[in-house]
Amino acid sequence: MGRRLPRASVASFSFAVEAVKIVGECVEVRPRSRNLSAACPDCGRSSRRFQSRYERRPADLPFGSRRVELTVVTRRFWCEAVLCGRHIFCERFGDNVLARYGRGTQRLETIVHHLGQALGGRPVAAFADRLMVPVNNDTLLRVVRRRTDDRNEDLKVIGIDDFAFRRG
Ligand SMILES: [Zn+2]
Repeated sequence: MGRRLPRASVASFSFAVEAVKIVGECVEVRPRSRNLSAACPDCGRSSRRFQSRYERRPADLPFGSRRVELTVVTRRFWCEAVLCGRHIFCERFGDNVLARYGRGTQRLETIVHHLGQALGGRPVAAFADRLMVPVNNDTLLRVVRRRTDDRNEDLKVIGIDDFAFRRG
């Protein structure tokens, strides 16, 4: 059996770590929220009555020279507000930690976004591989496109490629 890691070094403050295990070249971390309740996304009412739990496996940054495999324990809660149309909702961890449908943690996506903007395309995949950052071309495009879309309202001038006009 491998050595144990200090739990605080692999999880942010809002998570409790249920288990950390070193398996070969990988660190398996199993965090869950410390919060006893969650707020319904529709009505905002807080609920402590949870219905079930499931696991999310977002990609994350490496820990030292080891790949990190996160298994985030996520709970489904009952919304107890009588007039709310939503009966069950899933707890959320904040968009700055793990977005609602995020396939990777925000700290990973921030690194991928910066790599994509600085290097672009295939050099990113090769460089990310050397940094042990789990990213492929599809992920890179998705992250850069989504984060760039968020800032589109700031655009003042748009260039039009006449080559694209000829291609239809
Ligand atoms: Zn509700």
